[in-house]
Amino acid sequence: RANVFAITTGSKNLDTMLGGGIMTMSLTEVFGEFRCGKTQLSHTLCVTTQLSVEQGGCAKKVAYIDTEGTFRPERIKEIAERFDLDPEAALENVMYARALNSEHQMELAEQLSQELASGSYGLVVVDSIMANFRVDYSGRGELSERQQKLNIFLNKLCRISEEYNCAVFLTNQVQSDPGANSLFGPTSKPVGGHVLAHASATRIMLRKGRGDERVAKLQDSPDMPEGECVYVIKARGICD
Ligand code: ATP
Ligand code: MG
Repeated sequence: RANVFAITTGSKNLDTMLGGGIMTMSLTEVFGEFRCGKTQLSHTLCVTTQLSVEQGGCAKKVAYIDTEGTFRPERIKEIAERFDLDPEAALENVMYARALNSEHQMELAEQLSQELASGSYGLVVVDSIMANFRVDYSGRGELSERQQKLNIFLNKLCRISEEYNCAVFLTNQVQSDPGANSLFGPTSKPVGGHVLAHASATRIMLRKGRGDERVAKLQDSPDMPEGECVYVIKARGICD
């Protein structure tokens, strides 16, 4: 499609699997167990979005919604050096917000549309999308209300991505199900139900491989076949 940018993940393998990288104008979701690289991928994209189109970016700023308190400014600077960007400038181009609870997270999405109207943003990160919702609506009877709120939040992000031609990158947790765990190995079902599955145009499952290797599996894509590839996490960010 015309106008759509592909933002490089830092890994050629991953980019190839995705058809060039993380696409603007739609939502991309990565999910997987702890330490599989969801947050490191988020940090790497914060930097690569700022690269020129020729270098695999779109020369724009990033809005970062952090729900788990795992954003590390130092990592942005380290990764910026890999791409020959000025570390301080790279960090300044990341607008950071800590979402303290689901209500706050909804408010941030509201403020985001105003901030992004400038047209200077190429990426919105939400790391992670479900953490607050899971805490705030933990009761059994609260699931439908949670999904309603989640739907409103995701609709906002969808609209933002199309209106301002930016990529929306969501990280997500997997269901912990000790029963299934013992019989069939680690579970790999993302949380968020149909609402999130429907909103995410591209869905990628991440898991640990051998040593520092990580495996990404493309599960859902509007224009790429299912596929699998290996990437690693280094001090300089995600790479092959
Ligand atoms: P969680 O579900 O707990 O949020 P995650 O998928 O977000 O997990 P990350 O925090 O992205 O996981 O990845 C953690 C992994 O990244 C660890 O294996 C860690 O060793 C590696 N890592 C983090 N920082 C560096 C670094 N500076 N150099 C090399 N590897 C690093
Ligand atoms: Mg994380």
